[in-house]
Amino acid sequence: MMNFHILTLFPEMVMQGLNTSIIGRAVEREYISIEAVNIRDYTLDKHGKVDDYTYGGGAGMLMQAQPVYDACMAVQDKIAARNTDGKKVRVIYVTPQGKTFRQEMAKEFAEEEDLIILCGHYEGIDERVLEEVVTDYVSIGDYVLTGGELPAMVMVDAIARLVPGVLHNSDSAVTESFYDGLLEYPQYSRPELWRDKKVPEILLSGDHAKVDAWRLEQSIERTKKLRPDLYEAYIAKNPCI
Ligand code: SAM
Repeated sequence: MMNFHILTLFPEMVMQGLNTSIIGRAVEREYISIEAVNIRDYTLDKHGKVDDYTYGGGAGMLMQAQPVYDACMAVQDKIAARNTDGKKVRVIYVTPQGKTFRQEMAKEFAEEEDLIILCGHYEGIDERVLEEVVTDYVSIGDYVLTGGELPAMVMVDAIARLVPGVLHNSDSAVTESFYDGLLEYPQYSRPELWRDKKVPEILLSGDHAKVDAWRLEQSIERTKKLRPDLYEAYIAKNPCI
């Protein structure tokens, strides 16, 4: 079982976003667990404050170091009490300044037993606590969101579906886009004829070897057209293709 621990100021947002469909079912069936830890619960400020002005001026508020640090330590202590192997748990800070999240990274994170994901809000988080606790800085793309909750949900979804048992058919993740460096081939469902468009004949042939060859060809063609960057990398890795 893989355990996600999301440190956030908006736990209900994260939990609501992740409790339906495939991910919700994976939690029910105990392939994964997801806990959202409210950073505000750890502030020592008597008014429950977790943010303050930035030194040196500038717009907006910054999340303070103390509540973030204490929340992270509490989760790490809980994990350490359960896991006696002493393995260091990765703490991911989702930030537009991080390395771009890709399928390769999702595969790597899916190998972990526990992952802590730290969500910033407002102008972000005091640098000193980031230096202290963060092991990985990850961005979901070159744009700025109001908070780390959506990025955390994106990451949990992409990682969880690679955890064995989460997808009904273990093949689905393997044939999907990016898994082997290619985009997925086109797919069709019933009926065979829709608005004068017929399902490609070969898919009705029952010849699995031919279907596989057609799909690979389609994947390569599609990747070449839509993602020339991925195509170049694929060809460099598979020169005989
Ligand atoms: N001041 C920060 C900067 O310029 O790098 C941006 C802060 S952003 C308004 C607030 C929070 O949203 C960040 O701390 C981060 O956790 C999250 N966030 C925003 N965009 C993101 C992205 N593209 N990927 C991952 N996290 C993001």
